[in-house]
Parts: sequence; C-alpha cells; structure tokens
Amino acid sequence: MLDIKFTPTTNKKPKPDQHNLGFGNYYTDHMLIIDHTEGIGWHDARIVPYQPIQLDPAAMVLHYAMESFEGMKAYRTPEGKVQLFRPDCNAERMWNTNARMCLPQLPVEDFVQAVKALVKVEEDWVPSLPGTSLYIRPFIFADEPHLGVRTSKTHQFMIICSPVGAYYSTGINPVKIFVEDEYTRACPGGTGFTKCGGNYAASLISQVKGHELGYEQSLWLDGVEHKYVEEVGSMNCFFKIDGTIYTAPCVGTVLPGVTRRSCIALLEKWGYTVSEERLPIVDIVKASKEGKLEEVFGTGTAAVISPVGELRYEDDVCKINDGKIGDVTQRLYDTLTGIQWGTKPDDMGWTVPVE
Ligand SMILES: *Cc1c(COP(=O)(O)O)cnc(C)c1O
Repeated sequence: MLDIKFTPTTNKKPKPDQHNLGFGNYYTDHMLIIDHTEGIGWHDARIVPYQPIQLDPAAMVLHYAMESFEGMKAYRTPEGKVQLFRPDCNAERMWNTNARMCLPQLPVEDFVQAVKALVKVEEDWVPSLPGTSLYIRPFIFADEPHLGVRTSKTHQFMIICSPVGAYYSTGINPVKIFVEDEYTRACPGGTGFTKCGGNYAASLISQVKGHELGYEQSLWLDGVEHKYVEEVGSMNCFFKIDGTIYTAPCVGTVLPGVTRRSCIALLEKWGYTVSEERLPIVDIVKASKEGKLEEVFGTGTAAVISPVGELRYEDDVCKINDGKIGDVTQRLYDTLTGIQWGTKPDDMGWTVPVE
C-alpha cells in the first residue's frame, strides 16, 4: 500500500467543451508523482497541482531516452460512475517493460492504487458524452544528472490525465494503411514489446512517409526478413481470411496490447479460431486477390477497434470489404465499448470501479 499525500490545487481550471476535446489537448488539475532512489526504493507518493517539471539539463532521460509509459482510460457509465478497464494488465506490462529497460518496477497493486487515487481526485474531469473518456498516462523517467551511459540512481514515476473526445465523431471510417517495407520498428532481442519512447521516435519516419503517400498509418513487417506482418502504428492488427482470424504472435517484437488480448478472448468465446502464427504479407495480398481477405482491423486503447479499408503493399492495393466495417470488427467494437462504458454487462470481469 502506498501512502499518497494530497495537495489540492487552489486554482481549478475551467473544463473544456466535451464536443471538441480531440486527443491529448487538455490536462486535468492534478498529477501524481512517486520518486525512486537507488538504495531506498519508492518514496514520497503524492498528488499535487498539475505543473511543469524541473529537470537538470544533464538528466539522463534527455540524453539516453531512459523512460517508459503506459496508456489507459477511465470511462463514465450511464449511472454516472467511473470505471477502469483491466488496469492490472497495464501495470503488468509496465513491470515487464521496465525490466527490459533497467527502470525501477512499481508493484502491480501500487500502480493500480496510484491510478485509482488520481482518477478519484479528478473524477469531475471524466467526460460523459458518448465515446469520450479520461485518458490516463503513467510514465517513468531517469532524472539523475549524469552523462556517462549507465543505469540511473534516481527516477520519477508520474501519472497525468487528459479528457479525450470520441475517436469516431463522424462514425467509424475505415483507415488506409501502407505496408512499410523499408524501415524497421522492432527486431528480436530489442524493445518492440515495451512501451518505451524510443520505439515511437524511431517510427515517425514511416508515419511521415505514409502521410506523403496519402496513407494514415504504417503496417510494420518483421525486422529480419520484412516478410511477416507485425502491427500498425500504436495498434495491434487482425486479419480475417476465409473465416480464420490471424494476429501476430507477441514474441518480443510486438506490443502485447490489452485490447488485442481482450479481442482474442472474445473471439474465442464466440467460437472463432484465432491463429497467432506468423502471417506473410504476400499471403494477405494473395487472399485479397482471391476474394478471401474478409476483414482487417487494428486494436488499441485510443480507438478501441479501427477497421482498415485499404492496404497497400508495394504496387498492390488491397481493398477490404468495399471500404466498409466488417461484421466481426463491428461486433468486437460494440462489445468492447459496451463493457468499457458500462452500457453492456461485463461478463468478462474486466471493469474496475473507481470509488
Ligand atoms: C499501446 C500500443 C498498442 C495497443 O495496446 P493497448 O494496450 O491495446 O492500448 C499496440 N501497439 C503499440 C506499438 C502500442 O504502443
């Protein structure tokens, strides 16, 4: 159990218009901080007014990207209550990320307690319009001033929150995806399975290239052979081919998404076969040509489920389901959002109330 001190703000901000929240544009009144010092461990857990951080210019995170993060949401139910979705999964994932990154690991119970405590304080910031939520961003960084490359003796774990809008304000529009065959996101033995900032810095170049070609996101192939599909931007990716649903195995190069895991559980419950065998991109293109590529969708906390309407690999352009959302994609979207926002019964036991 953490002992969390609370210093309330004396200057509450006005709440933004719930119709125009967008993603990551507004921050709540408070933030949570826990310090970690080598030889002492975690100490001084506190919720304080939201404020800039003072860092020494030699702080190790600024030079060697010694940091990691998580992303999750708090949802407002029709009864006005606030709930989280599988927060223990995010806590576990950060534990695994930090083991790889030589960052201190916050125990799962403490992580969940910290998230709940901050969301409770910021309860009024959880928006209520359909599809809106409070995005929660836990993160940790090395703040020791030191220019030699080694592990840091001091770190700060923080949580900030941002009210975010409905991802699909004008209905679910399938995205166009470009298959990246030049750059690499992750390699075996690397950091692909972690949410460390460096992964995203290294992926921007593909996003820029895709945008120039008129595509919204890039689909990454494996880093060794550029042959097997892995994931899309900050989403895991699913393909329905001739009745079977495929998604890349989480073997170190793919981020183990909480939404991915939840989709697999639902699909299996509904009687679908989910294959986590590696799937070559050429097999997907072939299936498309034979009319067997039935549905493609991405999964992640931000959009929940994102249907893919077009996939471009080199000179092949695959149109999927006439650019419309498929039945399985729609069913997953309705079921998951229903559980998350409390409009459907949670028969999976995935939601956790904030009280
Ligand atoms: C966060 C993330 C995902 C999705 O994970 P969720 O837990 O479902 O939000 C997928 N891929 C990458 C690269 C990510 O950063």
